[in-house]
Amino acid sequence: MSLGATMTNMDSTQEQADVVIVGGGPAGLSAALSLGRARRRVVVIDDGHPRNATASHMHGVLGHDGLSPLRLLELGRKEVAGYGVRLIHGEVSAAHVNVLGIEVDTADGPIRTRRLLVATGLSDELPNISGMREQWGMGVVVCPYCDGWEHRNDVIGVIATSRKSIEQAQLLRQWSDRVVYFPNAVGEPAVDARDALARRRIRVESGVVTGLCIDAGQVTGVQVDERVVPVGVVFTGPALRPHDALLRSLGAATTESALGSWVDIDEDGRTSVPGVWAVGNVVDVRANVSVSLGAGALVAGALNSDLVADDIARALAGE
Ligand SMILES: Cc1cc2nc3c(=O)[nH]c(=O)nc-3n(C[C@H](O)[C@H](O)[C@H](O)COP(=O)(O)OP(=O)(O)OC[C@H]3O[C@@H](n4cnc5c(N)ncnc54)[C@H](O)[C@@H]3O)c2cc1C
Repeated sequence: MSLGATMTNMDSTQEQADVVIVGGGPAGLSAALSLGRARRRVVVIDDGHPRNATASHMHGVLGHDGLSPLRLLELGRKEVAGYGVRLIHGEVSAAHVNVLGIEVDTADGPIRTRRLLVATGLSDELPNISGMREQWGMGVVVCPYCDGWEHRNDVIGVIATSRKSIEQAQLLRQWSDRVVYFPNAVGEPAVDARDALARRRIRVESGVVTGLCIDAGQVTGVQVDERVVPVGVVFTGPALRPHDALLRSLGAATTESALGSWVDIDEDGRTSVPGVWAVGNVVDVRANVSVSLGAGALVAGALNSDLVADDIARALAGE
């Protein structure tokens, strides 16, 4: 896409949007809906790769349980367009903040905006095990609340990616009493953790996981060393990579956590960069679809109040 336009080659007085939203997943579209209904000039730019795109059904979203995640976004785009929100397909890789405001580079050329909301989500980095990538969102999943019910009473395999994976195995015991824990490269559980697994009848299958067995598109087993352990589904804990390059390029402050380095926001979604806000999985690991929808609506309310305060200041300044 076109990049590299700067404030020098644009009309500095022309403000085309109140809010540009980068990312049109549940968080971004939910914010766009509230802001559009608040009669703000809103542009959503999205490159079409939502996190849960490979899942055919979405669960735990009241009123939409079982709906395709892509259908939810299609409905959302239609709704926001009804309130005058402009939707642009494309990737944003640069934005510039200066005294004149914020400029976002898009495939359609630069857009001047009063506020920028980044809702770009995150990527799940899967363990390098044959079959995992192809089965992601189908026979390989991450979230018990999204997919546990569908696999209740199944043989549930948990392939460890960190010491926290034991907690995932213990959690999944709520959905099935046939949970198998594969420590793989993480190594053997400590004595007390192994005891807790045993007391809840969670089997430990030690050894190197070399691949998944897939039959007619379904996961049927986990290959460990030379043996195959039958399972009906695999849960795992991917490394989480927030799509925060845009925020970092603007100098947004970050904090280190056990899950890596994440951009800071305040309770309303403001980053440390004036005028730049963020919402959804890009800044919140816990933001499932419902939380992202709610957070989008909350941040939109706070953003609109911020713009009203700015409108008052401008009016007092005689603009
Ligand atoms: C396999 C799987 C299944 C899941 N199932 C469920 C479920 O059943 N129920 C549930 O509640 N949650 C589920 N989730 C979690 C759900 O996917 C997330 O909670 C949700 O997608 C977060 O919404 P978001 O808007 O923050 O990010 P996303 O939905 O990822 O949307 C971000 C959007 O930003 C776009 N984007 C990123 N960078 C740029 C850029 N630079 N320029 C332009 N556009 C950009 C992306 O293409 C994407 O469209 C699942 C997750 C996975 C991995």
